[in-house]
Amino acid sequence: MANYQPPQRKKSPYLPLGDQQGARFYGKDILSVKQFSRDDLDYIFGVAEEMREMVERIGTFDLLKGKILANLFYEPSTRTSSSFTSAMERLGGSVIPISEVRYSSVAKGESLPDTVRTLECYADVIVIRHPEVGASALAAKYARKPIINAGDGVGEHPTQALLDLFTIYSELGRLDGLTVTMLGDLKYGRTVHSLARLLTLFRVKINYVSPDILRMPQEIIHELKEQGVPQEEFDTLDPVIGQTDVLYVTRVQKERFENQDDYESVKGAFVITPEIMDKAREKMVLMHPLPRVGEISMEVDEDPRAAYFRQMEYGLYVRMALLAMVLGKA
Ligand code: ASP
Repeated sequence: MANYQPPQRKKSPYLPLGDQQGARFYGKDILSVKQFSRDDLDYIFGVAEEMREMVERIGTFDLLKGKILANLFYEPSTRTSSSFTSAMERLGGSVIPISEVRYSSVAKGESLPDTVRTLECYADVIVIRHPEVGASALAAKYARKPIINAGDGVGEHPTQALLDLFTIYSELGRLDGLTVTMLGDLKYGRTVHSLARLLTLFRVKINYVSPDILRMPQEIIHELKEQGVPQEEFDTLDPVIGQTDVLYVTRVQKERFENQDDYESVKGAFVITPEIMDKAREKMVLMHPLPRVGEISMEVDEDPRAAYFRQMEYGLYVRMALLAMVLGKA
């Protein structure tokens, strides 16, 4: 911990490395946050910032005109799927949406490798969400075109972690020196798995607040420990709310429970209310990957620190940046 020396941050967070850095992503898969360095994040956020300016100025433009994205979703999605569609269309490209796999050949028993080898005949990039850990890595093994992991079961959700970090940076103006508190279902929540790993690139302290049966997996705690990240576990929010810069709330992942009684015993364990926000710092952010199913009361939505709706918008710009990068146009 004390020995941890984070890599030196460049003076300007945006576009410090020129074209070479962008070229590194051309044709590449995005499978895990472990593949990113701080310089990569500087670059991605710089491109995302440019995307934001372009969307605000002109809405849609032709950077990826003629390119096609296949959006292959084996699990439900509102935000990830529609933000990738919006990102591609705002860049002038088009989308093959396959979100009802039960109407595709998957329902006939087609394997994931065959499905991706089919889609890459028609598309230039494939976004995949799948219930199994490692599914996107398997797809990438077989595909010639870039694969973007949009959530693999309880594994990772790397594009969400990138947009989460972009949100924190945009809202608080820094990433080093923060205390991040993750709350809720830390066992099954893939967004917190990716975010915790990505935060190892920065000087942060992480608190985990969860019911006992939903604690952060030991494997991840161990990984972060190896990187020297200070971490602490709690079963209530009270001891840490006052020292938190980022409160990242998650949904209890009902669909991942083998035993529904276990789910019943923890659902509704934490609810963020205005009274709880009264104990939080004046300058902090309250985030949630969404959907929320009662973990943040709607009365909190008007609180300026509630960033979860803005978080979705930041996600559009980050996904535009990623598509432009893997297709060689950033
Ligand atoms: N939308 C996020 C995910 O796909 C969070 C959630 O579902 O709770 O992982």
